[in-house]
Amino acid sequence: MLLSQRYKEPRNGRTGLAMVDTIILRTNEICLKGGNRHVFERYLLDDVKLRLAPIGSFKVRGDQGSVFAFHEGPMTDETAAASAAAMRTVFGVATILFAARVTKDIETICAAAETLMTKRGLTSEAVAKGMKRSFKVFASRSDKTFSMSSHDIACAVGERLLNDVPGLVVDVHEPKTNVTIEIAKEVAYVAVGREEGAGGLPGGVAGKVVAMLSGGIDSPVAAWKLMRRGCRPVLVHFHSYPYVGAESIDKVKRLAARLGAFLPGLTLHLVPIGDAQREITAKADESVRVLLYRRLMFRIAEKIAVKERAYAVITGDSVGQVASQTIENIAAVSKITTMPVYRPLIGDDKEDIVRVAKRIGTFATSIEPHDDCCTLFVPRRPATRASAVQLDAEEAKYDVHALVEASLAKTETVAVTSAVPHATVVA
Ligand code: ATP
Ligand code: MG
Repeated sequence: MLLSQRYKEPRNGRTGLAMVDTIILRTNEICLKGGNRHVFERYLLDDVKLRLAPIGSFKVRGDQGSVFAFHEGPMTDETAAASAAAMRTVFGVATILFAARVTKDIETICAAAETLMTKRGLTSEAVAKGMKRSFKVFASRSDKTFSMSSHDIACAVGERLLNDVPGLVVDVHEPKTNVTIEIAKEVAYVAVGREEGAGGLPGGVAGKVVAMLSGGIDSPVAAWKLMRRGCRPVLVHFHSYPYVGAESIDKVKRLAARLGAFLPGLTLHLVPIGDAQREITAKADESVRVLLYRRLMFRIAEKIAVKERAYAVITGDSVGQVASQTIENIAAVSKITTMPVYRPLIGDDKEDIVRVAKRIGTFATSIEPHDDCCTLFVPRRPATRASAVQLDAEEAKYDVHALVEASLAKTETVAVTSAVPHATVVA
């Protein structure tokens, strides 16, 4: 019998998701943590509670490396769909299951599995054509006093499904549908199907970093990768408005909102550097202009990092992608940085980066055209092998610290509104 409702379904009846009342989120890395594991669990529990609160009445608790979210009564299809979308964007989650909570007897477990599988079953036409859906039953017991072994439970459920649901076939190697049975202390959980979560570590657990967000394809992916490792990014965008249009600002706000779907409560600093660029253009050698803009950006980003108590700066650089990202130029620019600079895409090909951008829902926005601040006063022949000494000499031609302070003084800080949950994230 379901704990949340009387179980009255006919053996082959279709009940839809109405009987699903529990979300089970499995973690992977958190279970490996030692003494500070509770910190990771607390971040994860808080995040799950925050995301589910606007969707429905859930009680959330952690248990042995998993998070259980109990819904008050069976979930409607809408509640299940909305919570699935929200759970896909929770970092620290390896697998997402939507389960029915049932009493611990094998007949009820088999009947629940059958009802849930029937909902996912093939149409009668497909069955008539001889088409099959493969499945595998995964059974486990945390209650070792249960009368059947995990193997016996899996066999009993498998046999029942094969006998009673048309069009099924067992495939233990690459099943299309996973059926999960978990015998817990008080109840049994039955889930048909499972999704991969966003992976990584719980949002924000690793502390703050500054992420330089340009409006292109790479930088949102770079920020997301560090977010997935538990970092909370303070987003910084440098723009040349009013020397160029405000499109990049609008784009970056929308990109930030996409990132915000994974981690609510982000902030975005919009730093005007058009005046500084004009000064650099007037005083410094044309071929290294972009590298001097980059140094300026790092200097400003570090100041923001100190103020925000962030520990590193993140960029979307990838070796050789453009002239400013040759290994010589990266070295020459980085000479002035005092904080660790993380470049999580440094060895990635563009296709790899695009694939992640599509998964996390930033790609479509990133490819909208905009005037990059670095296209302003862009040199005809950019240097590909600058040296730090050369850049130091160029920077000595203007008061770089005054430019940094002037840009910071005109910086606007906005709260990022999280975009609605979006495309499936398969890590
Ligand atoms: P992206 O696709 O991220 O724009 P890109 O291929 O255009 O990268 P660059 O323009 O050389 O490469 O920039 C390299 C990195 O420097 C970016 O990934 C980003 O982290 C940072 N960056 C460049 N321009 C800006 C900007 N206007 N505001 C903030 N960060 C920037
Ligand atoms: Mg760019």
